[in-house]
Amino acid sequence: MAIATTNPSTGELIREFDALNDRQVREALERATAAFEDFRLTTFAQRSRWMHRAGEILDEEAQELGELATLEMGKTITAAVAEVRKSAAGCRYYAEQAERMLADESWPIEGDAVFTRYEPLGPVLAVMPWNFPYWQVFRFAAPALMAGNVGLLKHASNVPQVALAIEDVLRRAGFPDGVFQTLLVPSSAVEGLIEDERVRAVTLTGSEGAGRQVGAAAGRSIKTSVLELGGSDAFIVMPSADLDDAVNNAVASRLLNNGQSCINAKRFVVHDDVAGEFTRLFVERMEALRTGDPTDSGTDLGPLSSAEAVDTLDQQVRDTEAAGGRVLAGGKPLGGPGFYYPPTVITDIPDGSPAHREEFFGPVALLWRAADIDEAIRIANDSRFGLGGSAWTRDREEQLRFVNEVETGMMYINKMTTSTPEVPFGGAKDSGYGRELAEFGTRAFVNAKTVWIS
Ligand code: NDP
Repeated sequence: MAIATTNPSTGELIREFDALNDRQVREALERATAAFEDFRLTTFAQRSRWMHRAGEILDEEAQELGELATLEMGKTITAAVAEVRKSAAGCRYYAEQAERMLADESWPIEGDAVFTRYEPLGPVLAVMPWNFPYWQVFRFAAPALMAGNVGLLKHASNVPQVALAIEDVLRRAGFPDGVFQTLLVPSSAVEGLIEDERVRAVTLTGSEGAGRQVGAAAGRSIKTSVLELGGSDAFIVMPSADLDDAVNNAVASRLLNNGQSCINAKRFVVHDDVAGEFTRLFVERMEALRTGDPTDSGTDLGPLSSAEAVDTLDQQVRDTEAAGGRVLAGGKPLGGPGFYYPPTVITDIPDGSPAHREEFFGPVALLWRAADIDEAIRIANDSRFGLGGSAWTRDREEQLRFVNEVETGMMYINKMTTSTPEVPFGGAKDSGYGRELAEFGTRAFVNAKTVWIS
C-alpha cells in the first residue's frame, strides 16, 4: 500500500510520500536508543511539563489538525476536532497522574524494604490504524512517554500527514530529539523492526491478521506486546430499557466514526417484546441521517476510508443477503466520486453468513431477536471477538447477569461503549490482549523490578 494521502470524499490522490530507506530507518533507531539514555533519567515533573504543553498545542491547533484527519481518512470535521481535543485531555491526564501510577509499590516484609519499581523499557514500536489517527496514538504515547519510554510510530499508510503532525506536536512541546519519531515505512517493515534489538516492545491497534503477525514476531523475539484488534460488539436491548434512549444510542454507536470503530455496536440483540418497535424506530432514524461531505458540519455520516473498504463491506452485505439475510435499509454503495456507503440495517441473519462471523467495518447494523435473557447472552457470546458490549435494561438482576456473563473486555450498561483517558481499554478473545489507559496502560511498557533491601 502506497504511503499517501487520498481524499476519501472525492477519491483524489493528494500527496504521495517516499518510504524511509534502510539507512534512514537505522538512523532513526539509533536516535531513539540515544534519546532513551537521557530521557529515562528525566523527572516526572519535566516530562509532565512537556506533556502538558503537547496538550495545549493540540487544543490550540484542534481545528487545523482535525482538518488533516478529515482530509486523509474522511471522518466528519466535528468528530475530528473532538478527537484532537480528547487527545489533548489524554496528555493532560497522564501528565498529572502518571507519577502516582508509577510510584514504588511496597510489600509487607517485616524489617526489610521490599518494593516494586517501575522502570521504562526503551524504544516502543507503535503500529497504529487510521480510524482514530490522533487518539489511538496519544492513548499509547501519553502514558508510555510519561513512564520514560521513547516512541516509534508506524502509522497507517493512508494517514502520513497526521503521523508527521503528531511527531511535530511532540517536538514543539519540548520532548527532546528522538523521543518520539514517525517512521514512514510500509507494513512489510514491521517484522524487521520488532526483531531489531533496539526495539524493546510493540503495540498494535488494527486488524486481526496484523495482530497475529505482530504477536508472533513479538513472541519470537520475546518482547512485550499489546494487541487491540477488531470487535463485533453486541448491543442488547431488554424490555425494561428506555427504548427511545436505546434507539438513539444504537444509531450513535453504530455510526460513530462513519461506522469504522473497533467499539462500534455492530450486532443488535433485541428482546422479542420490544423488537418490532425498536426495529421500526431504528430504521427510521438510520435513514434520516445526512450522508455527505465530511467537511460540512451538518453531515452525520462521511465516506469510508478507502475504495477497498467499500468493496469489502459491499461483498459482506451481498454474501449475507445471498445467504438469506433481509436488508431493511441501505444495502448498496452510493457510487462515486468518493467512498460512500449508506446507513444499512440487516435482519434475519443466517448462521455462518459473514454477518454472523465477521466484523463489518462501516455503517451496517446487524439485527437479532432474543426470546429471553439466556438467548440474548448466548447470541452476544456467539462471536470470536470480545472487545466491548452494552446492554440496555433497568432491571438490576439483568444488569448483573450481563456484567458477569458477556465475554468481553468491556461491558457498559445503559451507556454505549467508549474510550476515555481515565478508564482501561482492551479486549478478550480474538479482540486482543493487554490493556491501554489507566494504571494498566501506564504499566504496559515497564519493567516491574522487585527490589529487596535487607
Ligand atoms: P490494518 O490492520 O491493516 O492496519 C492497521 C495498522 O497495521 C497499519 O499501520 C498497517 O499498516 C499495519 N499493518 C497491516 N498489516 C500488517 C502486518 N501484517 N504486520 C504489521 N503491521 C501491519 O487495518 P486496516 O486499515 O486494513 O483495517 C482493516 C480491518 O482492521 C478493519 O476491518 C477492522 O477490522 C480492523 N481495524 C481495527 C481497528 C481497531 O481500532 N481495533 C482499527 C483499524 C482497523 P499499513 O497501513 O501500512 O498497511
